[in-house]
Amino acid sequence: MEFRLTSEQQQLIDLARDFAEKEMKPNADRWDEEGEWPRECFQKAADLSLTGMLCPREYGGADIGFLGTALVYEELAKGCLGTTFSMVVHNNFVRSVFSRGTEEQKQQWGVPAVKGEVLGAFCLTEPDHGSDAGSIESTAIAQGDSYVINGTKSLVSNGGVADYYQFLAKTDPAAGKRGISSIIVERDKEGVSFGPRDRKMGANALITCQMTLENCRIPRSNLLGEEGMGLRYALSGIDVARVNVGALCCGVSQAALDEAVKYAKERVQFGQPLANFQGLQFMMADMATEIEATRLLTHKAAWLLDNDMPVSVSAAHAKRFGADMAINVTNRAVQIFGAYGYLRSYPVERYLRWAKMCGFVDGTTQIQQVVIARHLFKE
Ligand SMILES: Cc1cc2nc3c(=O)[nH]c(=O)nc-3n(C[C@H](O)[C@H](O)[C@H](O)COP(=O)(O)OP(=O)(O)OC[C@H]3O[C@@H](n4cnc5c(N)ncnc54)[C@H](O)[C@@H]3O)c2cc1C
Repeated sequence: MEFRLTSEQQQLIDLARDFAEKEMKPNADRWDEEGEWPRECFQKAADLSLTGMLCPREYGGADIGFLGTALVYEELAKGCLGTTFSMVVHNNFVRSVFSRGTEEQKQQWGVPAVKGEVLGAFCLTEPDHGSDAGSIESTAIAQGDSYVINGTKSLVSNGGVADYYQFLAKTDPAAGKRGISSIIVERDKEGVSFGPRDRKMGANALITCQMTLENCRIPRSNLLGEEGMGLRYALSGIDVARVNVGALCCGVSQAALDEAVKYAKERVQFGQPLANFQGLQFMMADMATEIEATRLLTHKAAWLLDNDMPVSVSAAHAKRFGADMAINVTNRAVQIFGAYGYLRSYPVERYLRWAKMCGFVDGTTQIQQVVIARHLFKE
């Protein structure tokens, strides 16, 4: 086992940190207020190969592996969690196309996505089916060369602004979860519509909204991989996403701890800096330990992915522990700032609102516990 980063991995961290510091952090508060992040910033990310991190180099990707990707996401999340999650969704779209797609599909959707010319999205959750993803009701019924798709998806990240949507629907409704397929839907197709943008507690730079397909005809050639394999593909993609969320939890929590340490050195009460009070020192020491524990869980899970080993339980550990940790760490950072932490003048209240998101996306905290418990009680 090797804990030392390679010089290539250290360069990735430096590159991502620089991008987060210069392009994201100064704008994060405004993007959160305005409810979106600009496409020019996405293009700048593409210029640094951050839009094709898991795409093979022969197609223009960076192919930095899962650990490399986790290192990048941790740094980006310090700048803006909503923007970073939007990029996670996009990179997962790219990965799906390159791992399941035909050569033609790679050229048609994957290569432009890697270049940052188009943005990707993933649509599984429905208004009545969240954690129970196998029960989705959207249908894609084959008619000649087309699928006729009907269904409504909720909480679609990048909804309305993405160009391509990996849409999960039942091509064989009688087969239950084994009848679910993954189909790429273009935004401007007839029959596609989007609801108003969701107003969220935090991470508003990430756009989410409902998406409805009504008698929408999509060529059968837009099927990704095999019919009936959509849920299996989605769940393996969600394992990757859970590892990424572990990295996001580290980033937002580290940013909160760094702010808390800085403030504790500057703020004077009872004639001395807050940093002198052992009660606060211990609080910050615990925050540091918990972040480090999440980082190790996340890196281990990313290493398993890089080595093509079973990852579901490790990914669940990283995400479950990380999401709770991020709320606890950012909450304590707000406390260290006193009442000023409650004001928008400082970023820590924003970090706390961002952190809460991590307990829902890509499977709730309880669903991670279900995965872990199932493993514990497996015969
Ligand atoms: C910011 C944001 C972005 C998102 N982006 C996307 C996206 O791009 N694409 C997409 O498809 N989805 C997306 N989602 C949706 C997300 O994946 C779902 O919210 C999540 O899967 C949970 O579904 P739900 O919210 O309907 O909760 P429900 O499934 O209704 O669960 C409600 C509560 O019950 C608990 N619960 C459910 N089942 C069990 C069980 N078996 N045991 C114990 N407790 C249980 C849950 O943990 C939760 O606390 C996004 C969500 C958010 C917040």
